[in-house]
Amino acid sequence: MRDCIFCKIIKGEISGNKAYEDEDVLAVYDIDAKAPVHILILPKKHIKSVMELGSEDAALTAKLFKTAKELATSLELDKKGFRLVVNTGEDGGQSVAHLHMHLLGGRALGWPPG
Ligand code: AMP
Ligand code: ZN
Repeated sequence: MRDCIFCKIIKGEISGNKAYEDEDVLAVYDIDAKAPVHILILPKKHIKSVMELGSEDAALTAKLFKTAKELATSLELDKKGFRLVVNTGEDGGQSVAHLHMHLLGGRALGWPPG
């Protein structure tokens, strides 16, 4: 998608601080970190939100979780815990219309979120 900031990072048109990459998934450090560790895990395929996920994306969806788990383990977030967040739509606080999972950790996270 031409105007999608995450597609631009995926294509290398703008820089991103990459935490992980393979043929299907990119993980980048959030530009405005809300925790000591704040990584965005995104499919390289432009999918607007959870609401656009289809049954053909089942393996890709599983891979997003697998990436989150592996990053959490490599960053030793698994010891004390962490949070995975997928904001969806206006009330969900989604500001970038390209599906992404936030991996947040490194401090105790409050609940409920704002
Ligand atoms: P959301 O509000 O759930 O859509 O999350 C979008 C996230 O993308 C926010 O946490 C932003 O700080 C982050 N973000 C926006 N632009 C960039 C960028 N160029 N590189 C890394 N993270 C970004
Ligand atoms: Zn996109």
